[in-house]
Amino acid sequence: MSIIRSVQVDQPGGPLRLVDREIGEPGFGQARVAIEACGMCHTDAGFVNNMFPGLRFPLTPGHEIAGRVEAVGQGVEAWAPGDRVAVGWFGGHCGYCASCRHGDFIHCQRAQVPGWAYPGGYAEKIIVPANALARVPEGLTAAEAAPMGCAGVSVFNPLRRHARPDDRIAIVGFGGLGHMALQFAVQMGLRTAVVARGKEKEELAYKLGARHYIDSLSEDVAPALQKLGGARVALATAANADVMTATIDGLQTGGVLVVLGAVAEPVRVSPFQVILQSRTVQGHGAGTAVEVEEAMSFAALTGVRPLVEEVPLEEAQTGYERMLANKARFRIVLTTGR
Ligand SMILES: [Zn+2]
Ligand SMILES: [Zn+2]
Repeated sequence: MSIIRSVQVDQPGGPLRLVDREIGEPGFGQARVAIEACGMCHTDAGFVNNMFPGLRFPLTPGHEIAGRVEAVGQGVEAWAPGDRVAVGWFGGHCGYCASCRHGDFIHCQRAQVPGWAYPGGYAEKIIVPANALARVPEGLTAAEAAPMGCAGVSVFNPLRRHARPDDRIAIVGFGGLGHMALQFAVQMGLRTAVVARGKEKEELAYKLGARHYIDSLSEDVAPALQKLGGARVALATAANADVMTATIDGLQTGGVLVVLGAVAEPVRVSPFQVILQSRTVQGHGAGTAVEVEEAMSFAALTGVRPLVEEVPLEEAQTGYERMLANKARFRIVLTTGR
């Protein structure tokens, strides 16, 4: 046993406070990772506020983790102390449920999300199943790698699945996910329109390679997209059901709205909107460890980088409030000083 500093939330809705707690040795199939950086994802608020089934308090959030393997348990192949690794939303799979037996690990029925199945990454160290580890390539710092485990892979995967070079796509919302989606899209050769509220982010969107910028406060989103030829793929990264609803008629024939912003409110879609145009509204959850690795590899190759604000672990509460107030530019990453 050794003592680490860790953020914890004692009760639902409670503040994030720094505590000392014990951490043990990794068990069979597990690795202990010395954390260097951990991104703050909007979904962490769902953990703090007890919005997922089976959460246990005190709770340590954090599922955008980057660091180094410190120790491995028995039965762990391919990983050794010193390896640079990331662990994202995908925090391990069971290997024997129906989804796993089909090789569909991201939909594992016993999916182990860090912060949910075990204490998460707002801490100096973490013990994870070794099948959750993604290798960090040279060229990405820990603070750049951390957000790839949730925000990065969540936009990289649907873009490479649904869009082909030269397709027109829309990125709805320009925050932690949106600014990474834009960079990935540009590097994939996609014609990208950014949809966001107000003019504040327009300049940066163009600087990062957007072809068009649609201010949803002054323009109706669907006709604006149709004027450009319609979107083959719209990535709804904003946690706003109304804006998702308003985007559907901006899709091309056969276009897909990929829902990423997690909100409880319904997205309204009429049969008319989807039947004749064969449109799809589809959810999408993050990506497996190897997909996180691929997102990082692509980023290292092409220069895609999250824009991060580094905040020391002991100021987690301040960083969390900044994220909730949508003041982060664009991802807050907790650092441990390693
Ligand atoms: Zn997340
Ligand atoms: Zn499983």
